[in-house]
Amino acid sequence: MARERTQQPHALEVRAFCTDGAALAGERPLARLARLVESLHQPPGDAQVAWQAQGQALPEPGAAPQWWLHLQGRAPVVLQCQRCLQPMVHTLEVDRRFRFVADEDEAERLDEQIEDDVLVLEPRLDLFALLEDELLLALPLVPRHEPACPGPLPAALEPAADDAPAQRPNPFAALAALRRGPGGGDTGGDDEDDVKGGKGSGSGRGPGDGGPAGGAPG
Ligand SMILES: [Zn+2]
Repeated sequence: MARERTQQPHALEVRAFCTDGAALAGERPLARLARLVESLHQPPGDAQVAWQAQGQALPEPGAAPQWWLHLQGRAPVVLQCQRCLQPMVHTLEVDRRFRFVADEDEAERLDEQIEDDVLVLEPRLDLFALLEDELLLALPLVPRHEPACPGPLPAALEPAADDAPAQRPNPFAALAALRRGPGGGDTGGDDEDDVKGGKGSGSGRGPGDGGPAGGAPG
């Protein structure tokens, strides 16, 4: 960490930045990240992306050092919840390590070996473009309020208003209970007569046939 060069985030000299073990940090208006803004549910207003970058060079015996860049970012955004379709505030977070290598061949070879991203070293790197790429990757695939939506769900999801009669007493069951009840044990003359009379008039049975004891079976 001897003499640190002045570095510009949108034209970062990565190799020098890493060799110096330099660091940069700042805030950038979210509105300047046009590609990200397109993915948002609401304009970002004056929201800021807080970011920081740290360079590092790890010595490798008999070879060029490993150049590493640690990039972190944090941005509050408003997305649309895909469950209730209402706006939801979400914090995008980026925390990535990039290893820079001399050429494409080495990048391909290393890509299979390490989990971190491998990028080919270029004279100048647009740190803000890289930050925006990573913020875009940090967007949730299906944004949703967690653990639950604060408001009601859209009308389409409400159950149909079906006014099913709950348990209205069955009139026939009530009638059966009435007939079974008093006539069951006793031989009450009056009750039997009423029932018999009703039936008789409907069925057109002959008057002399049943007689008083008939009591037409149900
Ligand atoms: Zn929701």
